[in-house]
Amino acid sequence: MSQATDNLDLNKDELINNWQHVGQQIVTACQKASENGRKVDASGVTLLAVSKTKPVAMIAALAQAGQRDFGENYLQEAIGKITELKNEEGCQDLVWHYIGSIQRNKTRDIAEHFDWVQTLERDIIAKRLNDQRPDSLPPLNVLIQVNIDEEESKSGCHPREVDALVNTIKAYPKLNLRGLMIIPDKAGSDAFDRTQQLFSSIKTAHPELEQWDTLSMGMSGDMEDAITHGSTMVRVGTAIFGARS
Ligand SMILES: *Cc1c(COP(=O)(O)O)cnc(C)c1O
Repeated sequence: MSQATDNLDLNKDELINNWQHVGQQIVTACQKASENGRKVDASGVTLLAVSKTKPVAMIAALAQAGQRDFGENYLQEAIGKITELKNEEGCQDLVWHYIGSIQRNKTRDIAEHFDWVQTLERDIIAKRLNDQRPDSLPPLNVLIQVNIDEEESKSGCHPREVDALVNTIKAYPKLNLRGLMIIPDKAGSDAFDRTQQLFSSIKTAHPELEQWDTLSMGMSGDMEDAITHGSTMVRVGTAIFGARS
């Protein structure tokens, strides 16, 4: 494989060990959540392996061990990896999630190469993704990114705007609206709880959304906390792949 590896890259045994350890943490967090009265099965929590800046060889090794979902932030890097891995043994059925910020002139590339987009926050972007999604592909799964802590500098739509955006997106036939995604302000806030409530209230208000099933919250540092507060998808980079340069 062509991509250069740098000295931050773990060897294959360390990588697989980390991945298994994260899987175990998810199981433990689900048990804890169940003890607190929220019934969650580990099969109800998807592990998204965030592979940004990491070489295709590491992705291939994880894929061959059984990891399916991968998240990428940088479009050109991601397209190179997706294309290269298409023909790699054990990598044909990978599920690619775009988790970076979306520039208007990049929507076609995203619509053509990804299975999921987790960072949707504006109608104009939703409309372009819908229009540019190739007919040969199934609808693009999308999550609305919510700026749950209402921070000035943070991307995501305002919590008050979510319902209007849901109404817009659900009318686009080439988008499949699956839920919400957040990057909270800081650990220990009640952001997870507030997002869980927003997620449930949208589900109640929109019974027509048959696949409203995904709450993407929790990263390497807070995934257990996120799961005990209702996360169904954790996005984990560092704890699997090691530090990024
Ligand atoms: C990089 C990134 C992650 C992974 O973060 P880690 O702390 O390395 O686990 C998760 N979500 C988003 C949106 C990211 O950009």
